[in-house]
Amino acid sequence: MVVRKILLNGNPLLRKVSKPIKIMTPDIRKLVEDMIETMYENQGAGLAAVQIGELKRLIVIDVSEKKDQPFVLINPKIVEKSKEEIGKEACLSVPGLEGKVSRFQQIIVKAKNIHFKDVEVEAEGYFAVALQHEVDHLEGVLYIDRVETGTLKPSRDDEE
Ligand SMILES: [Zn+2]
Repeated sequence: MVVRKILLNGNPLLRKVSKPIKIMTPDIRKLVEDMIETMYENQGAGLAAVQIGELKRLIVIDVSEKKDQPFVLINPKIVEKSKEEIGKEACLSVPGLEGKVSRFQQIIVKAKNIHFKDVEVEAEGYFAVALQHEVDHLEGVLYIDRVETGTLKPSRDDEE
């Protein structure tokens, strides 16, 4: 597993639409491992493949407290959403900032898992928000595009 460099806002790759993964390969398994390692190393709650320069529809998320429950989704698609609320958000590709974004608190996502089997995931709260944030990355969208006017500000670690 290798900790990879995270692309930062301003890099044009972050604005591209990622491509679906058609088959599972050893390279993709390795990419998943690198993404998980990179997410943990940077204390992130999630990471999209494009953030380390791979334009593939692949995300990893871990919203557990102990950071020991990595969740891998391939070609994720949000099929149902409800209960929109505004909450604080940040992004490893936009370091030092945070802002408030309106997101759905209950969603259902269809995707493939690491074994390339179809899965349907019901997500709530922070997990649902993180999923929407990562799925946005696959479309070349950053949370700062959606931020509520006037709420983008320097992040303060001591608030966490
Ligand atoms: Zn992000």
